[in-house]
Amino acid sequence: MRKKIVAGNWKMNKSYPEAISLALDITKELSHKIVPAHFEAVLFPPFPFLRPVSEITFAAPHMQTGAQNCASERSGAYTGEVSAEMITSCGATYVIIGHSERRALYKEDCHIIRKKINEAISAGLTAIVCVGEQLEQRKNGTFRDVIDTQLHEIFEVVPSGKIAHLVIAYEPVWAIGTGETASPQQAEEVHFFIREKLIANYGQDGASVSLLYGGSCNPSNASKLFACENIDGGLIGGASLNAEQFIAIFDSLPQ
Ligand code: PEP
Repeated sequence: MRKKIVAGNWKMNKSYPEAISLALDITKELSHKIVPAHFEAVLFPPFPFLRPVSEITFAAPHMQTGAQNCASERSGAYTGEVSAEMITSCGATYVIIGHSERRALYKEDCHIIRKKINEAISAGLTAIVCVGEQLEQRKNGTFRDVIDTQLHEIFEVVPSGKIAHLVIAYEPVWAIGTGETASPQQAEEVHFFIREKLIANYGQDGASVSLLYGGSCNPSNASKLFACENIDGGLIGGASLNAEQFIAIFDSLPQ
């Protein structure tokens, strides 16, 4: 059975006390809920808060912690970088790779993304790899080609034996932080496309990869998105900074 995941990407927000309080609020609430064993809520705080937030989520079944990024190298003279193994050693189990903000603002190309995926998987992390088209590519109908190319970059570095360490997030760039959400039909069409490509590449194992939707997902649109056959949850930005909203989104996973 595919994991159903609601992942909260806090980005570069919150002070240390605010981060702890948000993690505690979410964890307290979720630890009391009885949910199916394949449901998971994952918090992605900034690096300095990774260990304390991990310690908080350890207490709750169905909760994990992840990093928003990792280095493309393993160790050494890379000032300011944080390796995948360091993330694992903090108790985190996930890492986001290829977020559109990193692709656009930090010029992460397919070469860097491939190296990061490889590092993450070698360190035992589950990589949530983001794919998605720009507005222009949605409008001119080339979005499937763009996503196909991004998927091939992933498939090149994830062998079938490691597929359990892969989650793919479809995040149309025009929907991230804009308040404009892909309709459930638009999102499911792309998720179905990704599913077909996974199965073509990995055989039936491709059917076990969780696919998340990301882009202005909130408590009022989550249920309809999560009800789609190939949408296994969401990667949530803005709405994950508020405990009530994040929990409401988690509660939108169909039981
Ligand atoms: C994101 O940055 O991954 C994201 C989905 O952000 P938002 O929910 O704010 O659109």
